[in-house]
Amino acid sequence: MGMVNRHFIRIFWYAYLMCLFFQAVYAEAKVTKPNILMILTDDLGYADVGFNGAKDIKTPNLDVLAQNGVTFTSAYVAHPFCGPSRAGLFTGRYPHKIGSQYNLPTVKGAGGIGVPVEETYFSRVLQDSGYFTGAVGKWHLGEARQYHPNSRGFDEFFGFLNGGHDYFPDQSSKRYAALVEAGRTNIYGYIAPLEYNGSPVQETEYLTDALSREAVKFIDKAKASTQPWFLYLAYNAPHTPLQAKEEDLAVFPHIQDAKRRTYAAMVLAVDRGVARIVDHLKKTHQFENTLIIFFSDNGGRLDQGASNSPLSEGKGSVMEGGYRTPMFIHWAEGLERGQSYRHPVHALDFYPTLTNLAGGQVPEGKQLDGKDILPAILSGESARPGESIFVMRHRKGLSDVAARRDRWKAVRVANGAWRLFDVEEDPGETTDLSEQYPKLLADLVADMDAWSWSHEHPRWFHIQKEGFDWREDNMPRFHETFELPTGSLD
Ligand code: CA
Repeated sequence: MGMVNRHFIRIFWYAYLMCLFFQAVYAEAKVTKPNILMILTDDLGYADVGFNGAKDIKTPNLDVLAQNGVTFTSAYVAHPFCGPSRAGLFTGRYPHKIGSQYNLPTVKGAGGIGVPVEETYFSRVLQDSGYFTGAVGKWHLGEARQYHPNSRGFDEFFGFLNGGHDYFPDQSSKRYAALVEAGRTNIYGYIAPLEYNGSPVQETEYLTDALSREAVKFIDKAKASTQPWFLYLAYNAPHTPLQAKEEDLAVFPHIQDAKRRTYAAMVLAVDRGVARIVDHLKKTHQFENTLIIFFSDNGGRLDQGASNSPLSEGKGSVMEGGYRTPMFIHWAEGLERGQSYRHPVHALDFYPTLTNLAGGQVPEGKQLDGKDILPAILSGESARPGESIFVMRHRKGLSDVAARRDRWKAVRVANGAWRLFDVEEDPGETTDLSEQYPKLLADLVADMDAWSWSHEHPRWFHIQKEGFDWREDNMPRFHETFELPTGSLD
């Protein structure tokens, strides 16, 4: 055999081995891309799951996932109510920076407005990186075509576009049909028919069960596609209206308060749905490599049966009960079981975290306020030492505001006195430490003030009157919001 031939054989072998190597690497990369199941509940109280200590409400299936995953005791969302919280989740930015700090109007159609399309959602990033993507449940981010889930990174959508829905859609859609028949146009979105990819559907099941059923259906479709998948399962439970199935109510004869009892039954239906999905993932051998995130879009409503104990106040508040929510992540292949993570994490962190996990690319020029928290979860360290998490709720003529940094939180409500809490030791915000640490308080206030300069004027208001008030009161009046008592640092 001549030199040349031997040389070719060597090159051939080398090329062949390289092929095998890259094939192996590629196959590896393919199997390690996890599926992502994000389960978002609506107005679920911090204390209303077994894994956070609920005694009267039963969530056995969620508890098992939490115990075998990582639970987060300081998980925050971007806003203490629905629309802005979700706008933050999908854009990875504080809703105030994109004019989305109010809920969209409740009338069906919402006047052709929605979260600005220039803000690429992380669902689009996952879709672009090869994921099969689905949204099931509540949307609340705009109803016109350009704001529809199918236009914002979701291959599949089943659910409703408005801020909430009746739980017995077979009954409510009859009422809706009667109003349409009578020529009404501005119909309450809660009774509009559900839809699948833009077409109305006739739904007859209890809503929470229907959403769980559709989640399973999506997972089957995704498996057939052979792509990794991302499912955003946004239960509207246990958001009002408080409506539960008789069989679920019957589980809670020991709860005297009628609202609490119905609320508990609604949470039970979520737990049953999650069990059904987990069973299906196991049956189809996808459970181990599916990252499951569970949390709520804001705190529970104390006047509607929820409990955020030991946190103070609830939905709508910048006290901890308004925007610190129950949360766990379960991922058998990627995370050690049975951990509790105490450092602050934020819903804005999901954008970069899931993008990196999916091997996706953040669009050029896209600004993000959160960070990839996976390394910190794995190491058990804080993801943001020395950095603040902000929250702001506009009200008539003033803004409630707070910043959490490490163990500290500065908060001002209703233009009252600034208060400072050690929310790690004192999550119920009972002991004001502002007099002991005036410099720390001033520093946190300065941080919030600087943050507020990045805000944009609201693009819409939930109700017209809010818009009139905003103009009349010359909002946002941040100079008043961030004032400290004179001489406080002397
Ligand atoms: Ca909500």
